[in-house]
Amino acid sequence: MTGLLKSAAFDLLTHPWFGRFLSLGGGPRCVVLMLHRFRSADRSVGGHDPAKLRHLLAGLRRSKIALIDVAQAITAMGDAGTRASLPRRSVAFTIDDGYADLVEIGEPVFAEFDCPVTGFVVPGVIDGECWFWWDQIDWIMRQTTASSLLLELQGHPVTLQWSDARSRHVEKNRLIERLKDIDHGALLAFVTELARVAEVPIAIAAPSRYRVLGWDELRAAESRGMRFGAHSMTHPILSQCTAAQSAYEIGESVRRVRHELAHPQAIFCYPNGRSSDYGMREMAAVSAAGMTSALTTLPRVLCRRDAPMADPDWRFAAPRYPYVEHLGTVARFFLR
Ligand SMILES: [Zn+2]
Repeated sequence: MTGLLKSAAFDLLTHPWFGRFLSLGGGPRCVVLMLHRFRSADRSVGGHDPAKLRHLLAGLRRSKIALIDVAQAITAMGDAGTRASLPRRSVAFTIDDGYADLVEIGEPVFAEFDCPVTGFVVPGVIDGECWFWWDQIDWIMRQTTASSLLLELQGHPVTLQWSDARSRHVEKNRLIERLKDIDHGALLAFVTELARVAEVPIAIAAPSRYRVLGWDELRAAESRGMRFGAHSMTHPILSQCTAAQSAYEIGESVRRVRHELAHPQAIFCYPNGRSSDYGMREMAAVSAAGMTSALTTLPRVLCRRDAPMADPDWRFAAPRYPYVEHLGTVARFFLR
C-alpha cells in the first residue's frame, strides 16, 4: 500500500463520520486492531510510525470512540446479559510478537491516551530457545555477500535475486509468504539450507534488531497496566504442524505465560491468524488450555452478528483487523 493510501486510510478512520458509522444500529461494535513492530531509528527497524498512532488515538478520543481492553470486548460481546454494558462503539488494540520496541516506543504513546493494550508473546523466543524464522531470513539476506541465491523447496527451484535494499525487502517478503503455506518442518529445513547457501551462520541469540522483551520487562509493563497473552512457543503456522507439535505450541505457551506473569489474558492469539492457519484442532486445544477465546486476523468487526449465542465456537475465532492496511476497509464497512 502506498504512503498516500495509508494516509487516506488514517484520515478516514479519524474523521468524525467514522464515529457515526461505528454507532449505527445493531448494538455495540468493537474494532480489534493488530499491530506489530514500531519504527525504531536505534535499531534501523521500520514499522508503525508513533506520530501516526498518536494522530489516530487523538482522533478516536475526539470522536468519543471508547478504547477498551480486548478481553473485555470479547467476553462482554458473547454474553447477552453483559453485551449492553459495552460502549456502543469501541476500538481494542493488540500488538503481536513482543518485540522490544513495543515498550520502548509504542507503550508511551498508548499511555498518553490511557488506552488499554494487550501484547501477544512467544515464550520460546523470550526464553532464547530460538528466534523468529522470518527474522532469520531477514538476517541471512542482509548479511550475505550474494545478491542471488538458488535453492530448492519441496522439489521446486527457488531463486532469490535483488539489486538493492528495496528489492531485497520485496524478495524477502515474497519468500516469507510462500513459506507460510508449507509444512513447518520443511520450512525450518529451508531456512537452515538458506543460511548454508548464503554462507551466513545463524547465531544462537538473536541480533539486537530482533530483540524481544524478557519476562522481567513484561512484568514491569504489566505493573504499568499493559496485559499479555500467549502466541505459541515458536510462532509456527499451527495448521502446518503435526497434531502433537500444535498441541505443544498452544498448551506450553499458555502455561509459560501463566507461570511468568501476574495478569495473563485468557486469550490465545494464532500465529499469522488466517483461516488456513488454524482449524478445529487448534480451537479445541486453545479451549483445553483454559483460554476463553482466541484471536485471528479475519478482518471483521466484533459485533453481535459475529457473536451468535448459539455458536460458542465464535470466541475461538474472534476477528481482528491488521492495523493501517485495513483501516480503509473498516471505514467502508460502516459506509454500507
Ligand atoms: Zn505473530
